[in-house]
Amino acid sequence: MHPLAKLDQRFLWHPFTQMRDWLAQEPTVIVSGKGATLRDVRGRQYLDANSSIWTNLHGHAHPAVNRAIEAQLAKIAHSSALGLANEPATYLGKRLVEAAAQTQSGLARPPKLNKVFFSDDGSTATEVALKLAYEFARRTTGTRSPRFLSLAGAYHGDTVGAVSLGHIDLFHKAYGGLLFRSDQVMAPYCYRCPFNRAKPQRADAREYRKCRWECIDKVEARLAAQARRGNPYAAMVVEPLIQGAAGMIAHPRGWLRRTSELVRAFGAQLIADEVLTGFGRTTAPRPEAGPSSNARTAKRSPAPAEPARDRDPATPSDGDLLFACQKEEVVPDFLVLAKGLTGGYLPMGATLTTQNVFDAFLGEYQEFKTFFHGHSYTANQLGAAAGLASLDLLQAPAHARRRENLAAKLQEELAHLWRLPAVGDIRQVGLIAGIELVRDSRTRTPYELRERVGIRVCEAMARRGVLTRPVGSVIVLIPPYCTTHTQIERTVQVLGEAIEETLRVK
Ligand SMILES: *Cc1c(COP(=O)(O)O)cnc(C)c1O
Repeated sequence: MHPLAKLDQRFLWHPFTQMRDWLAQEPTVIVSGKGATLRDVRGRQYLDANSSIWTNLHGHAHPAVNRAIEAQLAKIAHSSALGLANEPATYLGKRLVEAAAQTQSGLARPPKLNKVFFSDDGSTATEVALKLAYEFARRTTGTRSPRFLSLAGAYHGDTVGAVSLGHIDLFHKAYGGLLFRSDQVMAPYCYRCPFNRAKPQRADAREYRKCRWECIDKVEARLAAQARRGNPYAAMVVEPLIQGAAGMIAHPRGWLRRTSELVRAFGAQLIADEVLTGFGRTTAPRPEAGPSSNARTAKRSPAPAEPARDRDPATPSDGDLLFACQKEEVVPDFLVLAKGLTGGYLPMGATLTTQNVFDAFLGEYQEFKTFFHGHSYTANQLGAAAGLASLDLLQAPAHARRRENLAAKLQEELAHLWRLPAVGDIRQVGLIAGIELVRDSRTRTPYELRERVGIRVCEAMARRGVLTRPVGSVIVLIPPYCTTHTQIERTVQVLGEAIEETLRVK
C-alpha cells in the first residue's frame, strides 16, 4: 500500500463513509488535477465526472483561477470582516448582486437581492438564511415561533440548523433529538409520483407524466393549513429546478414559478438553495445544437471550439442566466450559494437577501437588533479572488454557448442508456444528470439501499477511470464545464459498461 494511503487510513475519518469499508481497501490518493482529469499517487488518471462533489466549474488548475489566487496571495490571504472591509470581497458582492438581477430579456431588473452575507460553505450559508428569515418573521409578524417548510427528501447541509430543514431519514433521523421541527411537503418527483397515472416509458418521466399538478395542490394545502393556524410559515426552502442529494429529482417546468407565487400569497418568504444549481449548472441544452451538428466535429477536437461569430452578444441565451431561479423568472428573498462560488477552488458561502430583511436589523446599538452571527473566515480574500476569476470566465462572451453545447452533448449521449433495462429514469437539468437504476423498469421496482447498487456501479466506473458518487441507486453525472465532448462520450459509455457489468443485464 502506498505510504500516503496508509497515513490516511491511520489518521483520517472521511465524510459520509462507512470507515470499515474504507479501511478494507487501499484508498485512491489524488495528487493533482488538470482540466476535467484527476491524477492519483500511482499516476493513474481519472475523469472527474461529478466535479469533485459538485463544486468545480472550470476544471482543475485553471490558469486564470490559479493566477487570481496567486495574485491575491501575494497581497494578503485573509483579514477579518469583523470591523474591516476588503478589496476582493467588496467586488464579489457587487458582481453577485448584478448577476442575480439578470433577466431573460438580458436586462437587469433593479436588484431585489442587494445585500450579501459571506460565510464558509453551503451549510453555513443555509444557516444564515435560516436565522435571518426566523428573526425577520419574529420582528415583522410578531410570531413567537416561526416555522419552516421544505420538500420531502430535502438536503440543505449538515450543520444542525441545516439538518433541521432536511428530510432524508438516513442522514437525519439519528439526530432528531438535536433538531428543531420543520414541516415537509411532497416534492415534484414525477417518476415516483403517486398521482402520475402514466405507464413507465423510455423517457424522462417529466415528459410523459399524466397528472393534474396534485403536487402543487399539496404545497397550497400545506401553506393554507399553517396560515389558518394564525402562524404562517416564515419561509419555504427549495432547491430550484432540481433537488440534488434527494436523488437528482428534476422538477417539471412551471412548478417553481407556481410554488413561489403560493409562498408569497401565504405571507412566507422564499429561500432558494442554489448551492448545487448556481453558477450556470442548469444551463439548458442549446436547442439548435442537435445530435448531428456537433457530434462529428467533437470527435477529434480536444475542446469544443466555439465560433464567436455565431453569437450575437445582444441576444441573451439561457446560459447567460447563472441561477436556476432565473429560468422561471423567480426572485427569492434569500439566495444561498456555495460549492461553485469559487469555481470549486476554496470553501466559501454567500447568502443574498433583500433590503427589506436588511432593514429589519437596523437600529440603535442598544436596541440589539444586530445580526449576531459570523465566521472567522467570513469574506476571505483568497476565496473572493477565486470567485471573481470564476465569474469572469462564466460571463465571458462564448462561455454560455459552450455550456449550452456541452449540455446538448450530454443529453445526446445519455439517450444511449435507454437500451439498458436497469435504467428507469434519466433526469437532466443542464449540466446535472441523474440516472435512476431500478430492478424492473416496467414496474419501477427499486433496488434496496442495502444492495449498494449505486456504489457498485460507481466502483466499476472508477476501475475504468471515471470518478463519481451515487445518491442511493441514482448515478450522478455533473461534469466540469471544461469537459470535452469526447470526454462526455467516454463518461457515458463507461457508465453503460459499468451498469452492464454490475447488474449483468444487456
Ligand atoms: C452541498 C449542498 C449543501 C451543503 O453545502 P456544504 O458546502 O457541503 O456545506 C447545501 N445545499 C445543497 C443543495 C447542497 O447540494
